[in-house]
Amino acid sequence: MGIKITFLGSGDAFGSGGRLQTCILVDQGEDKFLLDCGASSQIAMRKYQIKPNEISTIFISHLHGDHFSGIPFFILDAQMISKRTAPLTIVGPIGIKQRVLNAMEVLFPGSSKTEQKFTVTIRELKAGGSDDINSLHITSYPVSHPSGSPSTALRVEAAGKVIAYTGDTEWQDSLITAARGADILISEC
Ligand SMILES: [Zn+2]
Repeated sequence: MGIKITFLGSGDAFGSGGRLQTCILVDQGEDKFLLDCGASSQIAMRKYQIKPNEISTIFISHLHGDHFSGIPFFILDAQMISKRTAPLTIVGPIGIKQRVLNAMEVLFPGSSKTEQKFTVTIRELKAGGSDDINSLHITSYPVSHPSGSPSTALRVEAAGKVIAYTGDTEWQDSLITAARGADILISEC
């Protein structure tokens, strides 16, 4: 099969136009993954009847709330409602692990220490680095967007296709490298 990309949310931090926050689903038949997971992502998945358990990996471009703060809700749902058993991998910039744990504690005290019925692995990817997550190959690029940690554009190779994704940023020459030869460039800003 080809790759199907669904824009579950493409709004901003302010709810402009009544749109849900950033959450893009990429379905390639296996290793379904999200590009960013804003605060309203759980609502978006319910709205479009997406099964969270089918998502193996969440890639995060940068650590602003409208791009990553859906993760505590995702994990809570996985534990209590969706009854997830499959491992979940979260990949994001340096600092993501502590920021996610902090967000979990702020939103649902005790949740960061709960023993989950599934494995959660949070992998930190330095800007300019790359990693292999199951069948996916991810490369990150530094961009210009202050978020308390390095903000990145992402390039994911999946099922023989290349998806480039900018996250938020002003113009940066690294975007040319991130997008070069890609099958699609998603410019989210
Ligand atoms: Zn941002």
